[in-house]
Amino acid sequence: MKYLICSIITALCTMICVVSSSSPAAAAATSSDKIAYLTFDDGPSKSTSRILDILQENGIKATFFVTGKTSEHSKQMFHRIVDEGHTLGNHTYSHDYNRIYRSVGAFKADVERLNRLLEETVGVRPNILRYPGGSNNHLSWRSGGRHIMSAITREMSALGYQYFDWNVSSTDAAAVIQSKEAIVDSVKSNSSGKKQIIVLMHDMDVKTTTVEALPEIISYLKQSGYHFDVLGKDSFTFQFLRPGNR
Ligand SMILES: [Zn+2]
Repeated sequence: MKYLICSIITALCTMICVVSSSSPAAAAATSSDKIAYLTFDDGPSKSTSRILDILQENGIKATFFVTGKTSEHSKQMFHRIVDEGHTLGNHTYSHDYNRIYRSVGAFKADVERLNRLLEETVGVRPNILRYPGGSNNHLSWRSGGRHIMSAITREMSALGYQYFDWNVSSTDAAAVIQSKEAIVDSVKSNSSGKKQIIVLMHDMDVKTTTVEALPEIISYLKQSGYHFDVLGKDSFTFQFLRPGNR
């Protein structure tokens, strides 16, 4: 009887030991799979410098889907983005829906124009894209017809570009100036339950609350076990237009 009790206690101890030692390991394995890709569209702007400072303070990298801006300040920002280890993505030179979505050729020319500017300025030719309005936007229909986005996405993929929509919107474009709280809350609720997240934010003069929300967003995502990475041609992507829908 005494032996039996001893055995039960030993077995229980072993179980507790196994459970307590495996739990942190299991949690670490799960959290290391969680990756957040922060993305900033439409820059450079007056906000870029502050965004870069915050990223630097937190030791994390992000992806900037930029447009064709040629001021000295913009060129300095292109340099800072690259020099500080972030990634540049192509968001078209003009960001003008009527111009870029008129035809496949017009879109290609606009993307190429920005890539030339970036190559001349910082020696980088992005092979990653974000379509203004997202790959499923309907505004393009006005200038290019209902099937323009499928035609463009097909052609750009054939040319070797990968494109990225988003699965977490910060909703900072839902109002001219969205409240900081709404931006933070939206990232919190939209990221819930997702292992890999592409977070849509905007780098624009007017988006001051995005900059204010950024430290809280980063801190929340870190606490939730996310690591941060930049997008690349072979990284995780999220696309509104799935191949089956094209
Ligand atoms: Zn945009």
